[in-house]
Order: sequence, then structure tokens, then C-alpha cells
Amino acid sequence: MEEGTELLGRLKTQQNLPLLTSCCPGWVNWVEINRPDLLSHLSTTKSPQQMHGALTKRGAFARSLGAEFAQGQAEPYVVSVMPCTAKKDEAQRPGVSGDVDHVLTTRELARMIKARGIAFNALPEDGAFDNPLGESTGAAQIFGASGGVMEAVVRTAAHFIGQQDNMPLEWQQMRGVAQGVKTADIPGVGKVAICNGIASAQTLFATETWRDEFVAIEVMACVGGCLGGGSEPKSMDPQVLEKRMQAIYSIDANAPRRRSYENPDIQTLYQIELNQPGSEQAHDLLHTHYAARHSKRLLLMRFLDCVDRRAGQEAAELFHPDATWQTASPLGEIKGQSNIQALIEQRLPARHYATHYQRHKMASRADPENLSVITPSGELCRFQIETQSVQSGSDTLLLIKSLTREVL
Ligand code: SF4
Repeated sequence: MEEGTELLGRLKTQQNLPLLTSCCPGWVNWVEINRPDLLSHLSTTKSPQQMHGALTKRGAFARSLGAEFAQGQAEPYVVSVMPCTAKKDEAQRPGVSGDVDHVLTTRELARMIKARGIAFNALPEDGAFDNPLGESTGAAQIFGASGGVMEAVVRTAAHFIGQQDNMPLEWQQMRGVAQGVKTADIPGVGKVAICNGIASAQTLFATETWRDEFVAIEVMACVGGCLGGGSEPKSMDPQVLEKRMQAIYSIDANAPRRRSYENPDIQTLYQIELNQPGSEQAHDLLHTHYAARHSKRLLLMRFLDCVDRRAGQEAAELFHPDATWQTASPLGEIKGQSNIQALIEQRLPARHYATHYQRHKMASRADPENLSVITPSGELCRFQIETQSVQSGSDTLLLIKSLTREVL
């Protein structure tokens, strides 16, 4: 829903800014390291894992667990099961860290099940589970296949432009594991591309024409998409990716609802929590920011993330031992790593959870030079950072030498 809205938003404002999907952390990491010039193209929509974490911890589900949770004194513990080791790293990203407490890969879960001697086939069928995110549609299922994210986005976009009855639900051009780059022309939207694996993305983004040719590009780092993820069970079957893909599309074909916006639980979520796709509330919970590796912006995002979590020691490790932090507040100027740690741990108000938990937000999407920030209390601030490189063993660390905050 959010990515579809973002795509149409860009088309309406006629920005020559093709939307690049961002639900694959392997791809996002690659952009941040190798092609920071693409950052402003990345969709700010969080991945399904991080949406799940934010909604579970800070939405209606947390409030439904009782007064302690509703009042911000406690939070649920969130564990996700993923086909992907990059998801472990994603859960630590500044701006989202803490929303998912632990990430297990599918193979780790399988090993745990085996170690406990649990015989799945012997388990009773009548177990009762809670259902924090409610119903799942076919559009959600196909996210696991290369081309599936784009197909789900197109299903939503077709609805928002009033063409859902005139457009096909299934886009065969976007499917399959054999082709590196797949393309499709979407009436009323434009031409889209799917990069099936990071090598295909490298080829496409090395061309001169992609910005003019496409309105949206899906990239999944693994060939086949998440069904070919590095943490999925290994198989000697050369057809395994195709078989998994067929299984996913068959679940979609048999799903009672195949478009995200038809999901009654999603509709309720927007009614009670998020207002509408692309709203301020939706941005608060479902969108994020990016920064080039080794940039001042990333250092600032990591520092503010530590402040939000009251992780004083982690924050102090980002600073040079003799650093200064000009707070532009009654707390004044703070000198030295240990004083920075003590301020965060002892002098800032206690952290609250659930809907009471507000984070700092970067004021711009991904501009590497823009260090303006909206604080949890809604103030607009600008930061200046001086950095110093320090050798640590064979690594060179970029540390903050001075941090100055100015309230605008
Ligand atoms: S495509 Fe691969 S790297 Fe990307 S989210 Fe899926 S499993 Fe992870």
C-alpha cells in the first residue's frame, strides 16, 4: 500500500525520480556502500519485517496487551523468522533498531525444531494462535518471489488510479527466475523493471537510460528473490527456485483476496491507526531513512538512534575521546565520551514504549548533506558535525569530534 502510494505520488509531481524498491536489505546495503547517488530514489517504505516490528511494538497490538503496555511502561518482545541473514543487520539500522528484538533465519528455526525433537507431522491441527497482523493476501505472499513486490505495487497502483477492473491481476512478464532484468508496460503508470539479483541491478544501473525509461524498479539481491535467500534450506535440485516460485504463485492464485487494499485487517489498521496511505501517521510507523556509509549523516542517524534508545555507551563509542557535544539546551556543552554517556543514561527522561515512543526523524529523504532533524517533541534542528579518523587495528573509524545542534 505505502509503496504504491509513493509511486503514484512521484508520478503526480512529475519528478524524474524512478522509485526503487527498498524491502531487500541486501540491496539497500549495496546502494549505501556502492551507489549513494541512488539513495534519493529508494522508497522510504520499510521492509515487511520492520513494518511488523513497528506496528507490533508501537501500535494497537501493543495497546491491546494491557495497561502496562498501553501506558508505555512495557513492550512486546518481537522475533521474526526470515530467509535472509541481511535481515539481522537490518534490525540494527538507525531509526528502526529495537523494533525487532531478534531475527532467526529459517534454517536456524529448523535446527531449533530438530534439536527439540519436535515432530511437525504429529502436531495437532487445532492449536490456537494469536494473530497480531491479521489476514494475509496473495499480494503479501508474492513478495517472496522476484517480481512479486512490483506486481503487488502495480495491483495497488491500479486501484488508486481507478483501473483495477481494466488491468490484469497477474503480470507474467514480471515473473520467473531465468531472466536477469524483466520489464513490463503498465497502462496509466509507465514502464517498470525487475532486477533479478544484484548482478542484474549492477548492469541496469550502469546504463545511461534507466532514469528516463522506467518509473519504478524492483531489486532483490538474491536470484529468484527471497525464495532464493542465503538462509533458505539448501537443495541439490536445480529446479528448486522455480518450484518454490510456482508454490508461491499458486498460494496467491488460490487466495480469497489478492490485493493488499482488499485486506479487511489492513483497512482497519488504516482506520484506527494510520489514517490513509502516505499520511503523517503512516510515515511515522512505516517509513525510514537512508545514508551513505562513512557519511556524517549516517553518524548522526546512529547517534540519534542511541539517544532515542538511551543507549549511552553505544552513543559514546561514536565520539572521539575528547569530543564536545553542544546541545543547544539547558544541558549546555558536554565534553568527553564518559560525560556524553552519563548525560544520555542519567539526565534524559526515562524511555517510554508503545505509542509514547517517539524517535528523531531526518528532515530530508536521503540528501547526504542535509543534517536537519525533527526531534521527538517536534522541534526542527540542524546539526553540524566535525569528524576525525582514528585507526583501530586494521580498521579506520570515523568518529565525531564535535557535534553542534541549532534549533531552527
Ligand atoms: S532477496 Fe535475499 S537479501 Fe534480499 S531480503 Fe530476500 S533473502 Fe534477503
